[in-house]
Amino acid sequence: MIDLHTHSTASDGTLTPKDLVHRAAEAGITTLALTDHDCISGIPEARKAAKTCKIRLIPGVELSVSWQGRTLHILGLNINTEHPHLNATLDAVFRARQQRAENIAQKLAEHGIEKALEGAQSHAKTGLISRTHFAQFLVEQGHAKDIRQVFKRFLVRGKPGHVSNQWMPLNDGIDLIHQASGIAVIAHPARYKLSRTKLRGLFKEFKNLGGDAIEAVSGSQSKDENLTMAKHALDFELPVSAGSDYHGPEKPWVQLGRLPEAYYRCQPVWETGLFIDQTSNSR
Ligand code: AMP
Ligand code: MN
Ligand code: MN
Ligand code: MN
Repeated sequence: MIDLHTHSTASDGTLTPKDLVHRAAEAGITTLALTDHDCISGIPEARKAAKTCKIRLIPGVELSVSWQGRTLHILGLNINTEHPHLNATLDAVFRARQQRAENIAQKLAEHGIEKALEGAQSHAKTGLISRTHFAQFLVEQGHAKDIRQVFKRFLVRGKPGHVSNQWMPLNDGIDLIHQASGIAVIAHPARYKLSRTKLRGLFKEFKNLGGDAIEAVSGSQSKDENLTMAKHALDFELPVSAGSDYHGPEKPWVQLGRLPEAYYRCQPVWETGLFIDQTSNSR
């Protein structure tokens, strides 16, 4: 059993890397990728735990990129976490997220919601700060009944607390992953709510830029969406990836490794030559 998309407390997941790996092992997972948002600081702890549990840990990252005025997520799988340029870039994104958080808090203060930065920070703890942490704070303060409701009423375009953000361009994200010897995968493509034409335009551009695979099977897509994405992957002759996008036990409908086998006639990315075990050379 594999799961190639998960989060820990290093970004906006609620389990520590160690607890995540133990839970994955208990669920019967044999290959697990830790793919925190714009962050690889959880990898050493996850790697150690994976050794204890005897499962294969794929070092990964979920990069935020900008494409045609939108934010997309690109997974970097099997990356070299020691790569200097990768580390320098993620450090810069960490600081940019800190600045964005201050701006979000300022916007919320203009709507009478005080101390949001401190509140979000208390949920982020030592990890990178994301909108999820603001959402947790807003629920805690009774401004919304759950996280989902927060993302309808706050933090998105046209709502209080929205701050637009410029991430690295798509091509830079793909290049960065490749420089760090990783595999570049478009995460949960159905989540971007693109028209069929636009989505196919994205796949075409992604492939032309050297992108490696499509995450056709995702815990944040419906079964039908998974199948549609698998068909696109076949059309574009790109291998498919599969991951739960697990953020923690608070969302019980997303389970580690519980992925429908909607691979169709696609080539699983973990069975390609791209997915060699590089743990032997100091990773
Ligand atoms: P950020 O990368 O800081 O902009 O935060 C984005 C994160 O917020 C995503 O990774 C999700 O975990 C979470 N998120 C975004 N939209 C929603 C939503 N509609 N419902 C629940 N969580 C969301
Ligand atoms: Mn997230
Ligand atoms: Mn994502
Ligand atoms: Mn994710």
